[in-house]
Amino acid sequence: MKAVVYKGAFEVGVEDVPDAKVQEPNDAVIRITTTNICGSDLHMYEGRTSVEEGKVLGHENMGIVEEVGPGVTRIKVGDRVSVPFNIACGTCRNCETGWSSFCLRTNPTEGMDGAAYGYANMGPYDGGQAEFLRVPYADFNLLKLPAGTEHENDFTMLSDIFPTGWHGVELSGQQPGDTVAVFGAGPVGLMAAHSALLRGSSQVFVVDKEADRLALATKIGATPIDLGQGDPVQQILDATNGRGTDRGVEAVGYQAHDPSGEEHPELVLDNLVQVVRTTGGIGVVGVYMPQDPGASSDLAKEGRIPWQYGQFFTKGQSMGTGQAPVKRYNRQLRDLIIAGRATPSFIVSHELTLDQAPEGYSRFDKREDGWTKVLLHPGK
Ligand code: NAD
Ligand code: ZN
Ligand code: ZN
Repeated sequence: MKAVVYKGAFEVGVEDVPDAKVQEPNDAVIRITTTNICGSDLHMYEGRTSVEEGKVLGHENMGIVEEVGPGVTRIKVGDRVSVPFNIACGTCRNCETGWSSFCLRTNPTEGMDGAAYGYANMGPYDGGQAEFLRVPYADFNLLKLPAGTEHENDFTMLSDIFPTGWHGVELSGQQPGDTVAVFGAGPVGLMAAHSALLRGSSQVFVVDKEADRLALATKIGATPIDLGQGDPVQQILDATNGRGTDRGVEAVGYQAHDPSGEEHPELVLDNLVQVVRTTGGIGVVGVYMPQDPGASSDLAKEGRIPWQYGQFFTKGQSMGTGQAPVKRYNRQLRDLIIAGRATPSFIVSHELTLDQAPEGYSRFDKREDGWTKVLLHPGK
């Protein structure tokens, strides 16, 4: 089958690889209809991880069930399904309590709990930027979708970034009526803003410097804050009578940069501590790594980020972090899409074939104007 494989820093290829197949009784094989390029794929693309050459990429997958193993009873051949990016067993202590992103069983990597498709250090699983994908523990992991092709570009956000954005807001402790500052207007930040508004926030600020992305934030009813126009913290304080916001969401990650483009992994955490009110909450879904060989400082290479912990403590704030447990939210978010209340497809900018993936990676990586979210349709 055809698949997108990692070839080295800033290089992916579309190659013939062995077909995905049922390997364990609980596996299913999915024929991929839509698979997205994610900001998390760029960490690998930019050569900042230990991902091995030849790895099939892609953790944001949906499609039609092609084959099931003898142990699969709930999911049937022909079902249209969303595949959460987390690969989880469903029965370990973390899975049982809803933390499928920290499954204790599926990732053999030393010191890492939680597995994913096509990702560095997240287990030996191939990704779904391919014609077919093997899904372990299919009965537990797969979410059924209505048959047909309706809402394809909305449903494709259910595998990762819509639940991840929602999780960022949840981790911040947001309540109806709260004000929220979302840092990052990439796909994840825009999903966090969409979620914060769906959850009844009174005002949602979205901070970035990319005009096209800020325009999307405005389109959904959020308040854009342009980094390029001056200190984002001051801009939000000015807009809130000096009070700041009740909640903050980090949707940037370690590649946070200042307006000149210089990387400062502590910058957004500091901004959040400054802008969120005393006793307010911060949800961090932007990724920080225990090791980051591509980091700009020796400290950051070891995953040490010198952020304003003292002020965070003094303000009595709380913080939640980590990979999102997609299953905790995806059924409800699917139903909000079906009801017409959630429309996460508003971020889709490009729909490409598998063969066009190298161009999609390169242009999304450069945050070229208008390249907000790239979907790949392997069947086309
Ligand atoms: P992205 O890189 O396209 O978006 C990041 C955005 O942040 C960009 O638009 C960039 O201009 C902006 N930015 C950079 N510096 C900034 C600053 N100082 N202040 C405000 N904005 C700034 O990527 P994405 O797909 O939206 O993903 C964002 C992060 O979320 C990545 O770290 C990704 O790995 C992570 N992620 C986490 C999970 C999870 O489960 N926790 C899931 C998916 C993605
Ligand atoms: Zn993703
Ligand atoms: Zn588990």
